[in-house]
Amino acid sequence: MNENHPLIKDWLNKLKSHTITKSITKRLTRGNQTKWLVEASSKQHAIVFGKLDCLECANCCSTIPPIVNKPDRKRIAKYLGLSVKAFEQDYISLDEDGDSVMKTVPCVFLGKDNTCSIYEVRPKACRQFPHTDGYDFIEQLSIHEQNVKHCPASLRIITNMLELQKK
Ligand code: SF4
Ligand code: SF4
Repeated sequence: MNENHPLIKDWLNKLKSHTITKSITKRLTRGNQTKWLVEASSKQHAIVFGKLDCLECANCCSTIPPIVNKPDRKRIAKYLGLSVKAFEQDYISLDEDGDSVMKTVPCVFLGKDNTCSIYEVRPKACRQFPHTDGYDFIEQLSIHEQNVKHCPASLRIITNMLELQKK
């Protein structure tokens, strides 16, 4: 992780000082219509990810085991030249909710240079994280509170939305 990147530095400082905004979901949905949330998140998602390349961070791949659903497992197993059963035995475990997730954290497919060795076939959950783009933002409203603790981009997107809301 590039701790000198301004967005990551700011996020790390907020984590250390416990000043990450609380009740973001409640504050964001108060008085805001779905249309505004979709448009504002989509716009801020594009702005923030235009400034922060995930290759500078990789904190999600280092700290959260992604859900690997059935189509993901079939696709990745094929890419690796394994049977689905062999792939599941080697790489998958069940979490406390009974979901199939990557067995190891940091993810076994994460390289030292922060690249993903199965990028083209990575799980849907990896492609969509941190769920801040438009409709995905409102469909996953309940998880933003947790995700801002793992993702500097997510925190900045939501902070920007809260600032816009005040205007
Ligand atoms: S599969 Fe790739 S994108 Fe997903 S957590 Fe692992 S390294 Fe990251
Ligand atoms: S999605 Fe968030 S946590 Fe994951 S690499 Fe990108 S900025 Fe970091």
